[in-house]
Amino acid sequence: MAAMQKCIAFDFDNTLARATDGYVGLFAVFQKDGMSEDYLKKTYEAVKEASQFSIEKYCDALEADGNHFPRQERQVEAEEWLRESLHVFPETRAVIETIREKGIQVIIVSGGERSYQMKKIAYSEIRYDEVFITHIGNKADTIQEISGRFASPLVYVDDRPMELDRIRDKMSDETVLTVWLRRPGGKYTNDVAEHEHIIISNLTELLPFLEN
Ligand SMILES: [Mg+2]
Repeated sequence: MAAMQKCIAFDFDNTLARATDGYVGLFAVFQKDGMSEDYLKKTYEAVKEASQFSIEKYCDALEADGNHFPRQERQVEAEEWLRESLHVFPETRAVIETIREKGIQVIIVSGGERSYQMKKIAYSEIRYDEVFITHIGNKADTIQEISGRFASPLVYVDDRPMELDRIRDKMSDETVLTVWLRRPGGKYTNDVAEHEHIIISNLTELLPFLEN
């Protein structure tokens, strides 16, 4: 009998990797054209709030405000910033490789604008079997779809408990095991979860759960 196919799904931002400079480097690109950091930050927040952030949409918003800048050139510089500021957590690649060596599939489920998220994932050089780009705050449908393919419970890891709670609202732990990656100093580390989740502070703590 063939071994049961298993899968671990990961959120991307702040779970596998993060932007290290808090977007200061992105703002610096456009400050060359006379826009203030404060204004650039506010516009960044507004773009993020209105839809899903991308460099393309950011340039659109700056232009819509009447700013003039060499768009092509700045977009290239902004993408360089994206590549350079992206920091893969120290244990990420080794943990992913260990998981893959065990014959377990690795799926990335990332919320945000497709091309922007795909760029970040490519820059991270993390090896995976599949990527799903979904909406922030609404990963449950995607998780449900993925879990339907596997006989054993899907493991899903996210740094944001709200995402895990929405999944747990819909699915039992026979279908999905929700893992809250609560890194010290993380963005959502002090949040309160509505449901019970497995809590880890580092991706290496996942490995004992994979022994069978
Ligand atoms: Mg995240």
